[in-house]
Amino acid sequence: MDKFMKRAVELAAANVRNGGQPFGAVLVKENEIVAEGVNELHNTYDISGHAEMLAIRKAQSELQTHDLSDYTIYASGEPCPMCLAAMYLSGMKQGYYCASVETAAETGLGASQAIYADFKKPKSERKLSMKQIPLEEGQENPMEIWQNKQ
Ligand SMILES: [Zn+2]
Repeated sequence: MDKFMKRAVELAAANVRNGGQPFGAVLVKENEIVAEGVNELHNTYDISGHAEMLAIRKAQSELQTHDLSDYTIYASGEPCPMCLAAMYLSGMKQGYYCASVETAAETGLGASQAIYADFKKPKSERKLSMKQIPLEEGQENPMEIWQNKQ
């Protein structure tokens, strides 16, 4: 196994022994580990405390950049939609995972698989209801302010 994935899996196993979920991630650039993370949901009241999110946050905070386009993530588990979106938003172009969301679901960690399945449905049929509330006439429009500043 690739040394970076091996490290991610080791982090995940250690996290389980420490009371957490089996997820670890390492962020790599030019064959060097830049940041690591493990799922910290057992320690924090932060639903975004996933291994990949924490590795990305650490790197961006230390490097003072939003751009991780030259970085690669190695995650012990296939990223959930939130982490995958963070990877997209950071400009990342590739990542690797070990356990799939299907495997995670088989071990009782099925949230990612359920969300991915929900995303395939039309908005109106999803489990989470999201409805638009349009601006009222004459109301300040933040999008217009933004557009005019460009
Ligand atoms: Zn995640």
